[in-house]
Amino acid sequence: MPEGDTIHYAANRIRPVLEGHVPDEVATPHRRFERDRWPERLAGRAVTAVDARGKHLLLRFEDGLTIHSHLRMTGAWRVIAGGARASRVWLRIRRGDRVVLQLNGPVLELMTDSRTRLDQRIAGLGPDILAPEFDEATFLRRLRGDDPARPIGDALLDQRTIAGIGNLWKAEGCFAAGIDPWRPAGRVSDEEVLAIVAETRPRMQQSALDGKQKRFQQVYGRAGLHCPRCGPESTIRVRGQWEANRPTYWCPRCQS
Ligand SMILES: [Zn+2]
Repeated sequence: MPEGDTIHYAANRIRPVLEGHVPDEVATPHRRFERDRWPERLAGRAVTAVDARGKHLLLRFEDGLTIHSHLRMTGAWRVIAGGARASRVWLRIRRGDRVVLQLNGPVLELMTDSRTRLDQRIAGLGPDILAPEFDEATFLRRLRGDDPARPIGDALLDQRTIAGIGNLWKAEGCFAAGIDPWRPAGRVSDEEVLAIVAETRPRMQQSALDGKQKRFQQVYGRAGLHCPRCGPESTIRVRGQWEANRPTYWCPRCQS
């Protein structure tokens, strides 16, 4: 699942290839970019930074141009050896024998830096759960400024409150902290909600380093199986929550 850790992992892989260097080649094979002339507009410009912000990735170039990407459920970043084959390529940036690929979009755009500072999808993001110093005060202020009747699992998906948590980490974080994702946010104490973050952050940090997100799955996608904590006493349940009816997984016995 492309969540904050996926994006930070991609940024960590792309950074040593591109940061501080002028790419040898920029290409946009997807037809939708036919008239956008990215190769011409980016020619001769060095990549100055590769930034992960929540679930957004920003490739910053000299002289104020930035490539903005959001993978939603379907996109991916890859760093491969030159010559290797890949399909569904929207963007290819080569430097030396390494190639950075963006596959399948679906949000991929070239914008000015000034626009990235105004665009609410980016500028409106809450504290990044993977930031070197997590901003607890802003997180709690935004959470408490939100609807207290909203289930806590739902509130944690709001990228304006905390950036980087998606459906998988919402379920795993609530499970790890023993909190029912359906409990209204107003009835979850600061200590409890910070416990969810404290459980989630090191797991995501590990995944951002090695890209192995799947090993942390205790409840996500495991509906009907025994709870890893309760054993045969309880099974993991699933039910839709919030927009697009995204499924929530939890154990009704050990999460209260
Ligand atoms: Zn349980």
